[in-house]
Amino acid sequence: MIQLSENGYYGSFGGAYIPEMLYPNVKELQENYLSMIYADDFQREFYYLLKDYVGRPTPLYLAENLSAKHNVTIYLKREDLCHTGAHKINNTIGQILLAKKLNKKRIIAETGAGQHGVATATVCARMGLECIIYMGAVDIKRQAPNVARMKMLGATVISATSGSQTLKDATNEAIRDWINNPVDTHYIIGSVVGPHPYPDLVARFQSVISEEMKNQLLEATGRENPDLIIACVGGGSNAAGAYYHYLNDLDVRLIAVEAAGEGVYSGKSAATSILGTEGIIHGSRTLLMQTTDGQIVEPHSISAGLDYPGIGPLHAHLITTGRAEAVSVTDENALKAAFELSRIEGIIPALETAHAIHALEDISFKSSDVIVINLSGRGDKDLNTYMEYLDKY
Ligand SMILES: *Cc1c(COP(=O)(O)O)cnc(C)c1O
Repeated sequence: MIQLSENGYYGSFGGAYIPEMLYPNVKELQENYLSMIYADDFQREFYYLLKDYVGRPTPLYLAENLSAKHNVTIYLKREDLCHTGAHKINNTIGQILLAKKLNKKRIIAETGAGQHGVATATVCARMGLECIIYMGAVDIKRQAPNVARMKMLGATVISATSGSQTLKDATNEAIRDWINNPVDTHYIIGSVVGPHPYPDLVARFQSVISEEMKNQLLEATGRENPDLIIACVGGGSNAAGAYYHYLNDLDVRLIAVEAAGEGVYSGKSAATSILGTEGIIHGSRTLLMQTTDGQIVEPHSISAGLDYPGIGPLHAHLITTGRAEAVSVTDENALKAAFELSRIEGIIPALETAHAIHALEDISFKSSDVIVINLSGRGDKDLNTYMEYLDKY
């Protein structure tokens, strides 16, 4: 059984390693999140907004051409069709409702690809709350369209200029802000990372993905369970959502796809499950890329959303216990897969998602298998990167 312990651990991973200043905030969340999010009025508003604002349920699409190419049955769970273009909004809708219940007036968030920043700015606009987004200076450059979207939605975008100037540095800045503004501010973390209860909270909001998959697969195939679920893992929120209702169905193989960057051992990689060791990052004990004296190793991936030196504690647990299989895909192979999906299915995926598509080449399966790939987001935000490769692929 995959189960969260009372103090927020999956096996030996998780917990809440936080500075004393944040203790009241985190404690308040720990003590109230379950009763608040499962209250009838909360659930009603959450599902109403998911339906009419986000556009759920997202389709489970039988990708016939991709299936023919790999001689297997492949369904794509179309999170790319969510309002704002990725799964991230499932979580921000839930957390903004929670922030309102907690009487918070000010929202902060970190963002990598900008998808979480856009999803947060969107729900803040909808609910009329102040919104401050921290984003690495490098990511601000490579994800310019999303920066413009956040600003248009009324958010303030603050550039994180320390370290590799990417997601981890933006997260550090957001945590610093929260320490300085503990009373009126809610921190909307964008993935299944951070101190307990965030990994569980975000997984529960994203679990609508596998909740829908069960019904949709039953209708399409006569079975609720696929044989494999493939999802890319940055922090791991889209994967957690796609796995959630299958975690204890051991006949369903869970495939976690990480970014190998320029190669797992190239020194420019984000393959945390291979390169990582146990340690503490951003409030939880998990696998992370670090030197022998505990300094974070700068990660690299062509996709900003996977460019993170840790993984959520749930995934560290699933992978180290063998429940999930980790696969890593290079920048180049992700690009290839993005162009291939665009040409044969007419769907331009996010660069993050393209890693999950390529995993079809890296794992073995039977031709009778039913595979669901979680199509976490659309590729509009990555067009600047794709344009550089139009002649190559
Ligand atoms: C943010 C993002 C990811 C990575 O985040 P997870 O928490 O691992 O899901 C993957 N795909 C897309 C499209 C994203 O925007």
